[in-house]
Amino acid sequence: MSDIIARIEGFAARLTLNRSDALNAITYDMCLEIETHVDQWKNDPKIAVIILDGTGDRAFCAGGDITAMYETASTGNFEYGRRFWADEYRLNAKLATCPTPIVSFLHGFTMGGGVGLGCHVSHRIVCENSQIAMPECAIGLVPDVGGSLLLARAPGRLGEYLGTTATRMGPADAIFIGFADYYIPQNQWPHLIKKLCLTGNLEAIINAHSDPGVPKLLDIEDEVNTAFSGEFFSDIVTYLENSDTVFSTETLKKLSKPSPLAMASTIEMIHRVRGLNEIVAALEMEYRFTYRSAERGDFIEGIRALVIDKDRNPKWKHKLSDALLTESSAMLRPLGQQKLDLSEETMKIGFIGLGNMGSPMAKNLTASGHEVLGFDITSPCPDGVTQVTNVAAVAAGANVVITMLPNGTIAKSVAAEVLSAMAQGSVLLDCSTIDVASAREIAQMADSRGVEFLDAPVSGGVAGAVAGSLTFMVGGSDRAFGKARSLFDVMGQKAVHCGPAGNGQAAKICNNMILGITMIGTCEAFALADKLGLHRQAMFDVVSTSSGYSWSMNAYCPAPGIGPSSPADNDYLPGFAAELMLKDLRLSQQAATDADADTPMGAAATALYEAFVEHEDGAGRDFSAMLPRFENRSRK
Ligand code: NAD
Repeated sequence: MSDIIARIEGFAARLTLNRSDALNAITYDMCLEIETHVDQWKNDPKIAVIILDGTGDRAFCAGGDITAMYETASTGNFEYGRRFWADEYRLNAKLATCPTPIVSFLHGFTMGGGVGLGCHVSHRIVCENSQIAMPECAIGLVPDVGGSLLLARAPGRLGEYLGTTATRMGPADAIFIGFADYYIPQNQWPHLIKKLCLTGNLEAIINAHSDPGVPKLLDIEDEVNTAFSGEFFSDIVTYLENSDTVFSTETLKKLSKPSPLAMASTIEMIHRVRGLNEIVAALEMEYRFTYRSAERGDFIEGIRALVIDKDRNPKWKHKLSDALLTESSAMLRPLGQQKLDLSEETMKIGFIGLGNMGSPMAKNLTASGHEVLGFDITSPCPDGVTQVTNVAAVAAGANVVITMLPNGTIAKSVAAEVLSAMAQGSVLLDCSTIDVASAREIAQMADSRGVEFLDAPVSGGVAGAVAGSLTFMVGGSDRAFGKARSLFDVMGQKAVHCGPAGNGQAAKICNNMILGITMIGTCEAFALADKLGLHRQAMFDVVSTSSGYSWSMNAYCPAPGIGPSSPADNDYLPGFAAELMLKDLRLSQQAATDADADTPMGAAATALYEAFVEHEDGAGRDFSAMLPRFENRSRK
C-alpha cells in the first residue's frame, strides 16, 4: 500500500497520508510525491480545492522521518539531510502559496514536518483530539518547515515560549496562536469532505465551524510575555531562574531537557523572522541552522538519545546556563552559495509579447518548472504557457511580469496597464529593446506603484532565445536584480548588471551600434577583397586571426560557405533581421542626440541600414545581407 493516496473526487483533489503505523511521519519520498501532485493540480481549472488528511486515529502527521537522516549523518554524510530539508522546505513554500485552496484536516498529532504540511495552507481544520507542537529543540533542531514564521506571528512572546518548550496546543490554542483556522468535531469530517468534493464550495467549512472553547494559553500569556521578552535566550533563562512562580519553575523544567544551542538559536531566529514576516525568508533562515545542525550542532546526539537508543539522556554540547550568543549567531550566519534558494521553484510569471523571442523564452521558463501565464494580441502561447485574455490577468499573483515587445511606445502603454495590476514588491522585467528614456519612464511609473523594474534587453537572437543562451544587459536596483537572477539563468547564459534603470538599454544600444558598424565594415571589406582578387576563404583566415577580427567576422561571417555556419549559408534568412538592426541603430542615434554624444560611425551605419531596409531589398533579410548589397555596387 502506498504511503500517499492521491485521487480526484468531483471538484476536489485528495491527498491522504497513509503511514499510520508510523504516525504518518513524512519520508523524503512522500515529500517529493506530494510536491508532484500539488504541481499538477494547482493550475488545473477543474480542481476547486485540494484536501489533505491522514489515515489512522492517532495523527495527521507526527513529524519528519528522521531515522534515515541519522543513519547518513552519523557516518559523516550530511548531504542527504540537507537535500531532504531543502526539498521539504520547497514543498512547504508551495503549499503556503498554492493558488488553489488547500484544506487540511489535522486530527491527533500534528508536529514538526506535519506542521509544514498542514499549517501553512489556506483552510486548516482542527478537532477535539488535535495536538499541535513544534518539538524540534528536543532533538537539537530549531522549529523549521516554516514553523518559525507561524511562531513569529503568534501573539506577544507566545511563539518564543512554544518554540522552545514544545508545549502542545489543543484546538483552541492552535486557533488562538494561528496554527489553525476552524474547529469542526471529527465526526462531521466525512460529511464535510463529501460536500467539498461534490460542490468545491468552501462555504461548507465556514458553516461547520464551531466554538473551540477558551485557549489554555490565555492563562499564562502575561507571564510568558514578561519572561520571554528578553533579547537573548540567556536573558529568558536568567529571568526564570530569578523568579519563583509556579510558571517559572515549570517552564525552567521544560527548558532543562532540549538542546540549549537549539533553544538559543530558536529565540534568535524567531526575532529575525518576525521582521521578515514571509514564508520563503523564514525557510531560508531555518535552513541556515538545519544545514549546520548535524555537523556543528546537537542534531545527531538528539536523535540518538530520543529516537535510536531511546535513553532520553542526550549529551548536549552546551549547558542551559551558557550564554550562547556567539554560537547561536554562528548557526544562523548566511550560507553564501549553499543558501536555500526557493525563488526559482515558486515563481509565478506573467509573460506579455510572445513573438519570435518571447515565445521560446516563455517556453524555457515553463520547462524549468515555473508557472507562466501568457498574453499577446496576435501570437499564440507556446505549449506549457497558460493563455489569458488580458494584461491584468497576467499580472494577478505574479512574482515577475516579463515583457518582450516591439518598441518603447508599446512597452510604455503595456507597462502602464500591467503595473496597476501588479503586487507591491513584484518585478516588472522588460526584455524588449527600447529607448533609454522610455525605460527610465517605466522605472518611475513602477517606483510610484511600489513595483521593482528592470530593463533587461538581450543579445543572442532567436537562436539564443530557443537555446536559453541569451545575454541580458540589466538596469535596475540590486534588489530587483537579485529577485530576477534565477530567471536569467533559465533564459540565458549570462546577465550583466549594468547599473540603475535604463543602463541595460544603454549597454544594448552601444553594443548593437558597434555590431552594426562592424558588420558593415566586414561586408564592405569582403566586397573590396572580391574586387582585388583576394579569395574569401583567405580573407577570413587572415582577418579572423588578425587585428581585424570581430564577432561579425568570426562568429557570424557574412560570406556564404566561409567560417562557422551563419544566416549567409541560409540565403540570408534572419537570424537578426536588418530592420531590427535599423531599429537598434536608430535608438542609438536618439540616445546620442539626447546625450549630445558625437557618433559619426553610428550615424553612417544608421543611414546605410535605413537605405537598405527602406529603399532597397533589405527588409526581411538578415542584417549580414549587406555583403550582397556591397558586392553588387560600384563606387558611384
Ligand atoms: P515579434 O514582433 O516577433 O514579437 C513581438 C510580439 O509582441 C508580437 O507577438 C506582438 O503581437 C506582441 N505585441 C505587440 N503589442 C502588444 C501588446 N500591446 N500587448 C501584447 N502583445 C503585444 O518581435 P521579436 O523578434 O520577438 O522581438 C521582441 C523584442 O526583442 C524587440 O524589442 C526586439 O528589438 C528585441 N530583440 C529581438 C531580437 C531578434 O533577433 N528577434 C534579438 C534581440 C532583441
